[in-house]
Amino acid sequence: MTPSRATSEAGSVRSRTVRVKAPGKINVSFSVGPLRSDGYHSVASVYLAVSLYEEVSARATQGKDITVSLKEGSLGRDLPLDESNLAVRAARLMAEVSERPSGVHLEITKRVPIAGGMGGGSADAAATLLACDALWDAGLSREELTHLAAELGADVPFSLLGGAAVGLGVGDQLTPALAPNPLHWALVLADFGLSTPTVFGALDRLRIARGQEPQDPEQIDPEVLRALRAGDAVALAGVLHNDLQPAATKLAPQLLDVLDQGVEYGALASIVSGSGPTVAMLAESEGHAIELADRLIDAGQHALAVHSPVHGAKIISDLTLAFDR
Ligand code: ATP
Repeated sequence: MTPSRATSEAGSVRSRTVRVKAPGKINVSFSVGPLRSDGYHSVASVYLAVSLYEEVSARATQGKDITVSLKEGSLGRDLPLDESNLAVRAARLMAEVSERPSGVHLEITKRVPIAGGMGGGSADAAATLLACDALWDAGLSREELTHLAAELGADVPFSLLGGAAVGLGVGDQLTPALAPNPLHWALVLADFGLSTPTVFGALDRLRIARGQEPQDPEQIDPEVLRALRAGDAVALAGVLHNDLQPAATKLAPQLLDVLDQGVEYGALASIVSGSGPTVAMLAESEGHAIELADRLIDAGQHALAVHSPVHGAKIISDLTLAFDR
């Protein structure tokens, strides 16, 4: 068996490192119900995993400490590197259910914007669960990992699963959706974040001001699922929907210009992703997404082209190195 913790053997120290990548997401449909007595909202959402990945490298250390750092040069100057970091929380939860956890150092390569509405922290948590499961030979089933993921946050199970999925409950009750053909997007990343609870709160206030009484969302617009199944970008463009978008644009009105810019530059449609402020612009093809992103960059935006759906969290390397002492 591969040693899972740093061990000293005749003259050498062995250290095992597991690297996992996990995708960010966009929501192509997001319906939000009324505020519940437990403080959450029921949602009906369609998640798509996109080709913008977080990476977590988990290195076994001696002792029991769980530490985290940010890979040099990655996004995330404001990322908390204490117990509140979602990767640390995931490792701690995994340590509780593992028989022989070691210490671990987590290094996050952050590409998904923080508080960007793309579930970047959730991707870190999903990647860490998988990495620590391997590092500590915990051998959890996918079902058990998904259960732990749901304890960490509503979007964490989806980052484990990847692909396309319908999310009910608070978004954590997932059913995979068929999306066999790639869709292409230009993403516009903002240089600020929006707190998810603040955006939900703004939606509640907007609804009260408008006298709206939302119902619990129970199902997804079948046209969304049909368009995904057919890989029909034009049809999907007509049914993209996000209840949180008016709240996000109320808090950050400059997003209205970004949404308009997408349409002006030839996107099939533009939508705020989740609680924002990332804006996803749907393109006709890969070439169109690249062209769109280039035009947005020329106009001063931080834009990039991505495709969907992509796989969920997966191990990309598992190395044990021996060092001379
Ligand atoms: P979602 O779309 O899932 O609601 P988000 O993508 O808008 O979330 P995240 O970047 O996942 O937002 O994280 C939101 C908050 O969580 C931030 O305020 C951040 O300080 C905190 N956080 C803790 N750990 C992490 C992490 N590893 N990566 C990102 N944010 C983290």
